[in-house]
Amino acid sequence: MRWEKVMGLEVHLQLATQSKIFSSSSTVFGAEPNSHTNPLDMALPGTLPVLNHEAVTKAIVFGLGVGAEIGKVSRFDRKNYFYPDLPKGYQISQFFEPIVKEGVFDVPMPDGSIFPVRILRAHLEEDAGKSVHDAIPGQTAIDLNRAGTPLLEVVTEPDFRTADQVVAYLKALHALVTYLGISDGNMAEGSMRCDVNLSLRLEGEQEYGTRTELKNINSFRFIERAIYVEAERQQDILESGRAVTQETRLFDPDADETRSMRSKEVANDYRYFPDPDLLPVVIDDETIERIRAELPELPTTKRARFAEQLGLSQYDASLLTQDRPTAEFFEAVATKCNNPKSAANWLLGDVSASLNKAGIQLTESKLVAVELADLILRIDDGTLSSKMAKTVFDALWDGETNVDQIIEKNGLKQVSDTGALESIVSDLIAANPAQVEQYRAADEGKQKKLIGFFVGQAMKASKGQANPQMLNQLLKEKLG
Ligand code: ADP
Ligand code: MG
Repeated sequence: MRWEKVMGLEVHLQLATQSKIFSSSSTVFGAEPNSHTNPLDMALPGTLPVLNHEAVTKAIVFGLGVGAEIGKVSRFDRKNYFYPDLPKGYQISQFFEPIVKEGVFDVPMPDGSIFPVRILRAHLEEDAGKSVHDAIPGQTAIDLNRAGTPLLEVVTEPDFRTADQVVAYLKALHALVTYLGISDGNMAEGSMRCDVNLSLRLEGEQEYGTRTELKNINSFRFIERAIYVEAERQQDILESGRAVTQETRLFDPDADETRSMRSKEVANDYRYFPDPDLLPVVIDDETIERIRAELPELPTTKRARFAEQLGLSQYDASLLTQDRPTAEFFEAVATKCNNPKSAANWLLGDVSASLNKAGIQLTESKLVAVELADLILRIDDGTLSSKMAKTVFDALWDGETNVDQIIEKNGLKQVSDTGALESIVSDLIAANPAQVEQYRAADEGKQKKLIGFFVGQAMKASKGQANPQMLNQLLKEKLG
């Protein structure tokens, strides 16, 4: 018997707005507990929510980005439940009429194929506060800074069958929202949180099995592991003839297991009803078209353009479009030096290695796109050998800025002047009559070796600065 995994994802994206979704408090991460709160966030009686239109705009931008239909009229509903970090006793969400409806999001897989994921809906809601356990030993404190932070919950159909598909989707979603500028996508700070719904069925079966929901797994590595561990657990249950319980489970990476958190509530338990304090959100076509016209180029479009127009391989194009700063840096270099292939090689080679070594992002490095382009231009015009280029690159990496000055200062010019090279070659031929004789009598294989000898001597004579390609050419002419 072979079991097939069936998975659907719910991703909470924190929208990058300055203020909260229904109040003017700041959304900045990491502030003193409860310093970003006002009477509304604390649910004091008599306060009323006022919708932040920036959150609405960002939700529309997302909907258009995944090619989904925008709900012309959407509404806010109350999801009622009790929890200490939710002082109102209900969360404002969109249950009946979400702002983003069905769409299909094309996810690029590592092998270059496209995996289409059906988006079921995306709705606006407010985040809850945070319980801080043992802030004072033995006590739990409540921090309401996060209460009211705007979230967009993106729900997919149960289209995923493998952990690879899940990870590829999350990476593509991360790229999309950071390109669109609607969320910083920072998983460590909770700006992108993922719940995986997982069930098993026998291969070939049509019906879905009973699912569990794995909550808030905050790294790609943990997601793969959590899926593996939970699928194993369900398989054991099913193979022993028992039934999976529908519930919410938590992945514990240290114990490498999932644990029951609570039995799964059904919609009825929440007594959803329209929030009487908020008006429906009505969006006209003109607004949608205005937002559509301002959308930036999306990652998939950029990837295709890098491959088709700039001649990059699909693989390089997908690596270079994973985040927007890298894609823009690459394009600035490629445009200025007019050598996309070389620009790609530098970014995926030396630049990426240096970033890894320093443990930083491209935006945090001192490297400037136009300088890297100048460096490539000096390789292409024969001024720099690849070894010399490495020295110049190191200087650029350390924050120096003028390629020609770096070349000058370090005496790095490659000698490509024909006159100078010719005189070196003539001197060599005069000084080594025996080798010249040998060369003229030798077969092709042996000639190659002897050319190597002459090039070596010429490099020595020029203190390593002669252009080796030109030397080779000249030697062949003079010796032949
Ligand atoms: P809720 O979590 O509020 O009950 P839904 O019923 O809409 O919401 O489902 C939430 C997610 O679970 C969706 O992403 C959906 O694709 C996924 N899902 C639903 N049924 C299954 C199933 N049998 N196996 C795996 N995933 C499922
Ligand atoms: Mg859910």
